[in-house]
Amino acid sequence: MAIPGVLAGASVGSRWIPPMSASPFAAPPTSVGNADAVLDGIDTRASLGPASNPNIRPMIPLGQFRDTFIIAIDDEGIAIIDQHVAHERVLFEQVMEKLTSGRMEGQRLLTPLVIEMSPAQRQTLAQHAPTLDRFGLEIDEFGGDSLRLAAVPPLLSPSQCESAVRALADDLEGLDGGSRIEDALRRIAATMACHAAVKANYPLTLDKMRYILEELRRTAYSSVCPHGRPVVLRLTRREIERNFQRI
Ligand SMILES: [Zn+2]
Repeated sequence: MAIPGVLAGASVGSRWIPPMSASPFAAPPTSVGNADAVLDGIDTRASLGPASNPNIRPMIPLGQFRDTFIIAIDDEGIAIIDQHVAHERVLFEQVMEKLTSGRMEGQRLLTPLVIEMSPAQRQTLAQHAPTLDRFGLEIDEFGGDSLRLAAVPPLLSPSQCESAVRALADDLEGLDGGSRIEDALRRIAATMACHAAVKANYPLTLDKMRYILEELRRTAYSSVCPHGRPVVLRLTRREIERNFQRI
């Protein structure tokens, strides 16, 4: 990121992105919450548990820039955090954490959602049905071109489901039959996290900002989102002082 005067944050990769190393994580209790709590985009009850890297200082949010970036500080500088990418990362980690201890319980829809899809999309989703089931996504054929969603992952609100399922069909289509199940899991988790995460141009309360920063800290401030976009830009204390000719 070549922005004058601004350094990118420490580059700590997601522990899920490299090939999953022999599941060494003691999984802390997590909850991914349910749909009504995420209607405004952020379920503050879901948590990754204790910070995985206690050496990273907590950051204090000051506010938002253009309802899209969280501005936060600690002793060592000022950080600009992309709220969508950060929340997406947090949800991704929460989902992956949840999957290590089994499957996510789907949220049963009072009125199942019926979606028309192309034969290729329907076939792709059918192929991956057992994997999708681990996310709590229950899909079956509904005759003709239609699929029926009976249960959906708790992190997606019903209004987000249709576009998320379409995106999943497209994503999984690119995955050839020989790929490992972990690849499919990561891809599905990344797509769901992207669809469930708070969007840009969305006002947040300080509490919601604090929640995102705290959860982000638990992921060791991973600076790259599941799709590879940067999460944090930092302006260091040194740089600030140098620019004001204090050092
Ligand atoms: Zn996204």
